[in-house]
Amino acid sequence: MLDVSVGRSEAMDRLAPYHRLILAEQNLGDYPLVTAEQVHGSEIASVFSVDAPFPPPIPGVDGIITQSRGVTLGIYVADCAPVWVVARDGSIGALLHSGKKGTELGIVRKAIQKFSSLGVGPENLMVLIGACIRPPCYEVDFAADILNQAHEEGVTSVHDCGICTACHPDRYYSYRREKGLTGRMLATLTLLP
Ligand SMILES: [Zn+2]
Repeated sequence: MLDVSVGRSEAMDRLAPYHRLILAEQNLGDYPLVTAEQVHGSEIASVFSVDAPFPPPIPGVDGIITQSRGVTLGIYVADCAPVWVVARDGSIGALLHSGKKGTELGIVRKAIQKFSSLGVGPENLMVLIGACIRPPCYEVDFAADILNQAHEEGVTSVHDCGICTACHPDRYYSYRREKGLTGRMLATLTLLP
């Protein structure tokens, strides 16, 4: 088993070849991987074209939205929630990092409003909340708050996988369970060409 009981940047370096291998196995290996700096904020970057296979993380943002096909968006998580927001017709996709702080700042709400400004209303969106830490393993139920944000913005198609990262050491990294020295899961979203 890969030892990732180290700090963030070392753990990310050790995991990178495995993440690339998995993307290749999913036939996503030829697409550039666009990632975010992830500062526990609520800024969302729009991605248009990408000219490097692994461009540096977009500074200062926790979300990425794109209408470009053949670009993979990536968000790293270990307890914070990865949240996918996708237009039903597949024309626009966004991937967000929404932990306690980002959820408080309303990053999911902001993303939904961004879709509206691009012409896709909440009735034409799907929202998916991935594995994240939840009560009783964590005192704040931010997944519930994300669900509320989506509902309040008018999205009816909201799916929460309901899985707690800290409850499944065999499957997920958990920042809190491993006291900060852990790996990161890579959540991805690609609008296929
Ligand atoms: Zn748990």
